[in-house]
Amino acid sequence: MAKTKQFKTQSKKLLDLMVNAIYTHKEIFLRELISNASDAIDKRHHLSLTDEKVPGVEDYEIFIERDKNNRSLTVKDNGIGMTEKELVSELGTIAESGSKTFFEKLEKKDLDIIGQFGVGFYSAFMVAQEVVVRTRSPYDEKAYEWKSAGKATYTIAETEKEDIGTEITLHLREDDEENEENYSEYLEENTIRSLIKKYSDYIRHPIRMEVEKEKQEDDKEEPTTYTETETLNSMIPIWKRQKSEIEKKELDDFYKREFNDFEDPLHTVHTSVEGLLTYTALLFIPKKPPFDFYSEKYEKGLKLYSKGVMIEEKNEPLVPDHFRFVKGLVDSADLSLNISREMLQHDRQLKRIASHIEKKIKSELEKLQKNDREKYVEFFEAYGSILKYGIYDKFGAEKDKLKDLVMFKTTKSDDYITLAEYIERKPDEQKAIYYATGKDKASILAQPQMDALKKKGYEALLFTEEIDEFMVQVLAEYDSVPFKSLKQAESDLVDEDRKKDIEQKEKDHGKLLKALKKALSDKVDDVRLSGRLQEAPVCLVTGEGLSLEMERILEKLPDKPEGVKAQRILELNPDHELFAALQKVHAKDKKRVNDYASLLYNQALLIEGRSIEDPKTFSDLMVRLMVEASKDEAG
Ligand code: ADP
Ligand code: MG
Repeated sequence: MAKTKQFKTQSKKLLDLMVNAIYTHKEIFLRELISNASDAIDKRHHLSLTDEKVPGVEDYEIFIERDKNNRSLTVKDNGIGMTEKELVSELGTIAESGSKTFFEKLEKKDLDIIGQFGVGFYSAFMVAQEVVVRTRSPYDEKAYEWKSAGKATYTIAETEKEDIGTEITLHLREDDEENEENYSEYLEENTIRSLIKKYSDYIRHPIRMEVEKEKQEDDKEEPTTYTETETLNSMIPIWKRQKSEIEKKELDDFYKREFNDFEDPLHTVHTSVEGLLTYTALLFIPKKPPFDFYSEKYEKGLKLYSKGVMIEEKNEPLVPDHFRFVKGLVDSADLSLNISREMLQHDRQLKRIASHIEKKIKSELEKLQKNDREKYVEFFEAYGSILKYGIYDKFGAEKDKLKDLVMFKTTKSDDYITLAEYIERKPDEQKAIYYATGKDKASILAQPQMDALKKKGYEALLFTEEIDEFMVQVLAEYDSVPFKSLKQAESDLVDEDRKKDIEQKEKDHGKLLKALKKALSDKVDDVRLSGRLQEAPVCLVTGEGLSLEMERILEKLPDKPEGVKAQRILELNPDHELFAALQKVHAKDKKRVNDYASLLYNQALLIEGRSIEDPKTFSDLMVRLMVEASKDEAG
């Protein structure tokens, strides 16, 4: 008895598009069915190595059968097959990933992306009025038949099928002369032959079909025809072909198909190594990180092949964390096919390949940085934070590998520069690499501490990402020049004379500073005069160590570390009118200094772009001050 089931909503929508829309590239359905068959064979082969329930076979193959009388085309494989459950979950539902983007694309008739979103199977309905899937899995007692006409429902019934594997039969639609749709052509040997050459030549398993041959026998005038099974694909994977013979487009298409992207890769590396270690690697840097890149779900790794046969979908240790955006594959003849996954992880050869690959990626990135800055910037904008995190991670274990790859915009440059470039162009007497932290360039340039930097003509790196300051703590120096935050209180941006002048003024106004300090004792660690403020009356800086930004980030952590507090220092500009006003108030009414102190502190917070701690008190004080000022003016 056949059970009738409904397709999931998304699937229905997609089927509708497949059945009703007129696409020009309907032929790609064959590529999709063959790719699924090939995946299924890979799966069976894998499992046969590790799971005794799954028997392997000597001769894996994909077989194509044409039946002109019944207008049907069948793709058979001896892959893993599907259980009854899988028929429902795999063919009745679209994989969640990216289905929204997919629909947007599809509505623009961008057919190239079918098969990159886990929906390739449905493309069969572009050419078939009915699709029948007969399948047997080693994980199910029985074989099943799945059938659908591409409407809202499908049926599943038990069936007889001896061998493990899947047969997918397409009952082709009637030709439609009005719309110039010729489905009969998919029953022709030559069409199938050329479609396989075009789309599936590299498939690692033989794609076979009965073809007609002619033979001249001595005793006959006319040649006799007979049929013979022929393998239609060359089975040479793209990475095994001569580099010079591969076109960029082929590599791009291969990448998109294999790694489910709808954009060409940003950069491709194809490398073959021979010698003690023999392998070929085909590596891609995607233009953009995949949607789940920053989530826990993202798994880095490369596909692993041995002599063209896939042995692992994702080998994690083949790419280091700091290059985890790299996708691709490694094919090595040195790896034995029959080792289990756990063993693979520890394989010495693999470790060496991994280390080669890491060096290769690094040198490719360096080349790009040097020779094609524009492309490198595109890369860096997509993945720079990963590199920075790589420097910070593991207490800086990898920092030397990565420090030349990071770049920054600066107070003087809207183009990214490397640390080497910064050092190269700084004046000799400048003894530090300065950096300033903020949410963007404008807000950094507005910081009071900028005045002194500008006056000196120095340049500071702009730190606008959370990771920047953490990274710099680990990096500490570049080329023996230490990093220094512009906010750190003691400063080498002020001349000796000015420093003396400030020291004197601090003595002169010791009582006032002491009073301010007392008034703000629960808010700041120190109040002092500053030689580096030019325009601003006041600013909030930090001592050595933790900055305000880092403190803010650490506080947001779920398990925030104990006792993380930045040392806060309120700096006053002794030449500002406001300081003069403070002196007056202090002379006249010692208690009023408390109010002024509180206002000053809040003002410093505002300049920092932070919110003030007690808006009500702040506002009350402001009001009182304004009222008093108006009385003074009137009187
Ligand atoms: P994708 O191949 O990207 O997963 P498809 O729509 O092409 O998406 O196929 C959906 C799923 O159906 C496959 O992931 C697989 O589980 C199953 N499937 C399709 N064809 C076969 C087959 N020939 N043998 C076994 N499973 C298959
Ligand atoms: Mg598929």
